[in-house]
Parts: sequence; C-alpha cells; structure tokens
Amino acid sequence: MSTMINIVKDKIPTLREKSVEVPLPLSKEDKATIDEMLVYLKNTQNEEFRKEHPEAREGVGLAAPQIGVNKRMLVISYPTGDEKDPLVEYQLVNPKIISNSIKKAYLSCGEGCLSVDEEHPGYVYRHFKVVVKAFDATKMENVTITARGYDAIVLQHEMDHLDGVLFYDHIDKKDPFKVIPGSVEV
Ligand SMILES: [Zn+2]
Repeated sequence: MSTMINIVKDKIPTLREKSVEVPLPLSKEDKATIDEMLVYLKNTQNEEFRKEHPEAREGVGLAAPQIGVNKRMLVISYPTGDEKDPLVEYQLVNPKIISNSIKKAYLSCGEGCLSVDEEHPGYVYRHFKVVVKAFDATKMENVTITARGYDAIVLQHEMDHLDGVLFYDHIDKKDPFKVIPGSVEV
C-alpha cells in the first residue's frame, strides 16, 4: 500500500512551508495518512523492501510534509537495543515543545534526512532534553513525552519539518564541526 508514497526532496518549495494544525478529533483521512506514513517508515527499514524500491532510503522518522501533506503530523520508529523497551515508536499530531534543556546535544556522525540526498557534513545542535505535548495517533489520546539524547534529537528533527526547517539549516557554515562547550555528543 505504501509504495504509492513519494518522498518530497529538499528542492521542492512545499518542504519549506509551515504546516497547518490538524483538527481534532482526528479525521479518518488524517488517521489513514499517519498510518500510511508509519507503514512506509517501517518498510524503509526492511532490506527486501529497499531492494524492490531502490529509491527508498532507510529512515527513523518521517514528517507529513515529506510525503507532500503540509499538516502537523510525524512518525518515528527505531529499535533501542534495550530488551525491556525495545522500540521507540510514535505517531504524533500537533506536537509542541513545552519545555527544553539549555544543554545541547549533537550526533557525532551528523544528521541525515529522507528528503536530503546530498551530504551536509557538520554538527546539528539541539536541546539535550525536550518535553513534548501531542495527540498520539497510536493510542488516540493526548500524551506528554520526555525525551533525552538521541530520542530528543530525532523528535526535534521531525518537528522542524513541520516548520519547513531542514537539519542543515542549523549547521554553522563557517565552522561546521565547532564544539559548543558543555554539549553532549550522542
Ligand atoms: Zn528529515
């Protein structure tokens, strides 16, 4: 079903638009869209799927503007390596950061994005910790999520898409690998 999804790349102007709030209760159409997004995202993590769809790249998050829907919805899915809590997986609608740490974190390998084919080397500094309120379209209820480190970075990357912001916008062009004192390398 999700083979119909086409990923919007970063040269397409709609990817740079601010997305609109999603009316709640969630409509059947919006629920179907966010379900399809999660199916696609999980498919990209499947080697067989990527063999059949060479254009598909592996991802851990996907925001609705990346499939051409400028609505404030995103999905996240990745394994944690923790036996008790093996999967981080969210379908979030209208997410908002309600508090954040001053402390910053960055991925030592830099960030990537399904919408960005070129390499953009450099560190992307984000809040080490965020508290996010959203409507959870898996549980179909309002949730408050506290995320730190990698989890916080992925959330902020996907939420940026809802405001038309891409990871490389945050890279210091003059000094892409500058280290901010007190920041956490993830
Ligand atoms: Zn992205």
